[in-house]
Amino acid sequence: MKKLIIAIDGPVGSGKTTVARRVAALLGYLYVDTGAMYRALALKAHRENVALEAEDRLAQMAGETRIDLRIDNGTQTILLDNEDVTSAIRTPEVSQAASKIAVIQGVRRVLVAEQRRAGQLGGVVMEGRDIGTIVFPDADLKIYLTASVEVRAQRRWLEHQQKGDKVDLTRTIEEVRERDQRDVQREHSPLKRAPDAVLVDSTAMEADEVARLIVLLTKENKTSGNTTTAIGV
Ligand code: C5P
Repeated sequence: MKKLIIAIDGPVGSGKTTVARRVAALLGYLYVDTGAMYRALALKAHRENVALEAEDRLAQMAGETRIDLRIDNGTQTILLDNEDVTSAIRTPEVSQAASKIAVIQGVRRVLVAEQRRAGQLGGVVMEGRDIGTIVFPDADLKIYLTASVEVRAQRRWLEHQQKGDKVDLTRTIEEVRERDQRDVQREHSPLKRAPDAVLVDSTAMEADEVARLIVLLTKENKTSGNTTTAIGV
């Protein structure tokens, strides 16, 4: 059976990570979290005191950095130059820094090439901001996952609470808005729905429901060509 490329894009907190992981597990596909790559590079820039505006230096750093994404028994590990940075990249500071370096074309060029290599054989669920528009414009199934900004910020805030991090909900809403704005307005590969992406609004849906829906869509896609355009909206 043909192994598909499934692209899931959407803003912060739309549920992409949970959903994409679940879909990959249900289909036995590889899961690729492209945001983790931008995060890992942002962490390295911070540690090496490289300014987030130093475009050439950061593009060069991207080319010299090794980022590995591993999944063992459903647990994801992110390795930055062979060091486990799985938790270190999930702080609000790294989130903001990642979205700042993500505006740099030279950085994107390097990471997009890696992402294409990782997904070229199919059998992959890749999530990010530009997967259906830039990384795999011919993906077999494209999903644009979104939810209201309040619900997305609340999800992010809950994740921090569960880890014991003290973050303020109002500040989290502001940070989500800031990142949304930067992702949508940047010049290179802005976040947008590909014209042929199925729009899924997860405001009132559980991640598991969304994942099962996407698996159903892969079946529809294989048999008839996809005609669905919006769900949950
Ligand atoms: O998805 P996540 O929130 O982990 O991504 C961190 C940041 O990396 C995003 O805010 C976005 O600016 C950037 N990103 C991107 N393109 C991708 C994935 C993430 O620009 N494909």
